[in-house]
Amino acid sequence: MRRALFPGSFDPFTIGHMSIVERGLTLFDEIVVGVGINADKLQAETGRQIGKIAGLFVSEPRVKVIAYSGLTVDAAKANGCGFLLRGVRTSADFEYERTLSDINRNISGIETVLLYALPELASVSSSMVRDLQRHGYDVSRFLPSQPLEQ
Ligand code: ADP
Repeated sequence: MRRALFPGSFDPFTIGHMSIVERGLTLFDEIVVGVGINADKLQAETGRQIGKIAGLFVSEPRVKVIAYSGLTVDAAKANGCGFLLRGVRTSADFEYERTLSDINRNISGIETVLLYALPELASVSSSMVRDLQRHGYDVSRFLPSQPLEQ
């Protein structure tokens, strides 16, 4: 059983994230979407975020959504994940992911599998979506419009 943890902030979960999960399902038997929680985030807010993301995978039993705090590799082990799954959009992402994956492999032996962003999604980021939202723009085109089908 190949199970991967796809960790991130997912604030919000975009069509870019959805594409990584979809493509990851061709490589792994199961994917656990791990929403990293920091201390100053309200519990209710986290609950809402998890619920929203979980709703996108109601029809796909191979995807599970969890919240975690602490080290990503500890969350991976706690959820039986032997791999981390991440996406790469830019060379900046690449350098960042290289450092992360190196440290994670060093401390846990867990390997990271990177997928290049689809070219048409490479400019989609949660921070860009939040920015547009703050200025009153309709961001629906960047958010998954329907649950993932099996
Ligand atoms: P983090 O805050 O940990 O970077 P994000 O929620 O921003 O978390 O992203 C989680 C993962 O998804 C990261 O590996 C990021 O590179 C990847 N990702 C984000 N947006 C896209 C996209 N449009 N296409 C492919 N991968 C993406």
